[in-house]
Parts: sequence; structure tokens; C-alpha cells
Amino acid sequence: IFSSQYHYILDPNDLECSLCMRLFYEPVTTPCGHTFCKNCLERCLDHTPQCPLCKESLKEYLASRKYMVTSILDMLIKQYLRDEYAERVKAHQEETRELSDLTKNVPIFVCTMAYPTVPCPLHVFEPRYRLMIRRCMDTGTRQFGMCINDPQKGFADYGCMLIIRSVHFLPDGRSVVDTIGGKRFRVLSRGMKDGYSTADIKHLEDTKVKDREELEKLQDLHDAVYDQACVWFQNLKIRFHNQILQHFGPMPEREADIQATANGPAWCWWLLAVLPIDPRYQLSVLSMTSLRERLVKIQHILTYLQSIPNN
Ligand SMILES: [Zn+2]
Ligand SMILES: [Zn+2]
Repeated sequence: IFSSQYHYILDPNDLECSLCMRLFYEPVTTPCGHTFCKNCLERCLDHTPQCPLCKESLKEYLASRKYMVTSILDMLIKQYLRDEYAERVKAHQEETRELSDLTKNVPIFVCTMAYPTVPCPLHVFEPRYRLMIRRCMDTGTRQFGMCINDPQKGFADYGCMLIIRSVHFLPDGRSVVDTIGGKRFRVLSRGMKDGYSTADIKHLEDTKVKDREELEKLQDLHDAVYDQACVWFQNLKIRFHNQILQHFGPMPEREADIQATANGPAWCWWLLAVLPIDPRYQLSVLSMTSLRERLVKIQHILTYLQSIPNN
């Protein structure tokens, strides 16, 4: 009786978010007294630090990042609108599931070249990418694809997953995101989601060499190119040498098993990231699934760079 009585007073429409027109999910209330779903309000604040209803400044509210759920509302909804709430939770879980898929509709950051195992710090300020990074964190995937721009297609056919190691939020909502390269991928199809690009992707893996003789040759080639890379790096002007150390850290060590991972030795990717070459060229090496081909290409680049006086 108690419950049904309250159902009279408690109209689900009164507990509807004015941004998504649905029942509040994780309702937060601004200092000006307006309530929205947490996710809905955050998306508004990505664009401008104002209350979407009364336009009062929410700069300080945004800077504090303390979006506490309004527990009295949350409790009322859970207790007296049980069915509506269950529906709302189901919808939210469905959305989360869709956003968590790591091969279908994967979020794509169109910005720079990224490589497996190589750190990639990002400064995130565009609203669409703020949303993307937040979703990666909220869903728990902590991953997104990175591709360079392509004038015709929007973004390149190949890219690299970036794994978020940490996010540092600045008071105005921008953030510094520390990432490191994961799997490489090929783009199968392109899409859009809430302003940012998405793609269906297929992960790339190096084809393993099994033949013993061939593997020995590959190891010799690998050792020769590794030594050549060390010489190139050591002979670099001290200014460039130090800049590289600062941005990318030292050159990774030689690995015991050159075919241990699907991406091959880490030093190849580190080198590719620091070599002063055109991104289109870097992209072609990223897309290769043969370690031998990759080493030959790197060898050519190094030989060319070393042939230029005062490189
Ligand atoms: Zn909402
Ligand atoms: Zn307001």
C-alpha cells in the first residue's frame, strides 16, 4: 500500500533527465540545483562549463570533478520506480557492451602515428575526444585505435591500438593522457559515433618463420640491422639524441626470441617512431606482417640516412 501510494505522487516523468529524456541514471545535481544523468552532464561540460538549463557557470564544479550521485533521488528511483529503473539499467548495460567491443565500432583517434610498445602521450581538448577517453575509462576497456589522417578516407587503412596508462585531468576539463601502443590493426569499415570516428578492425600479427634455415637468416639480418640502428643513434647530434631520449626513452634492448610476440622486436617500433621520415612511409612499415620485410625497409632507411653528411 505504501509503495503504491508513492507511485501516485512519484510520476516517472518528474524523474526524467532533460538532456536524454530518460529516467535519471546516476543523477547528479549542480550547485545551481539542476539534476541530470552524470554522463549527460559531463557531455555538456565537454563543450562549455555552464549549466545546460540555467546557463550558470559550472567552472568550479567542473574543476573539482566531484560529481556525487544525488543519493536521495537515486534511492527514490530504485525503491519506487523499480521496473522503470530495471529497464534503464538494462539500456545502460547494452550501451556499455556496445562501447566495449574491441573489434567492432572501435573508437578511432585521428591524430598521429602510434606503434606497438611505444609510449604516446596525448593532450586531449576536443569535446569528442574527451567523450571518447571517458568512455574508454568508464567501460574499462582503456583502449582506442590511433590512426593518421587520410584526406580521402578520413583516416588511414592501418593503425595501432593505444592502451591508457593514466589520465590527468586539468581544471578546465582538458586532459593529458599517457598511453602505450598495443596491437596493430587493419581497418575493415568506417563509422561515426557521437562526433568521433569508429572502425571495424582486424588485428595484425606477424607471420612466423618456421623453417630453420630461413630463421637463421632472419636472425642474422635482425642482428645486423640492430647494430646499424645503434650506430645511427649513437652518432646522432647530441641535441637530437637527447630529445629522443626525453620523448621515447632509451632504445629497447635486443630480445632473446625475435618472434616471441605478434609484433616482433620492440626496438623496431621504437626506431620507426624516432626516425625522421614521412608518416606515409612509417605507415607502410606498420602494415607489414613480415619481420623480414620490416627489417629490410628499416635497413634501407638507415643506410640512406647514414649516407647524408651531417645527418
Ligand atoms: Zn540523461
Ligand atoms: Zn542550473
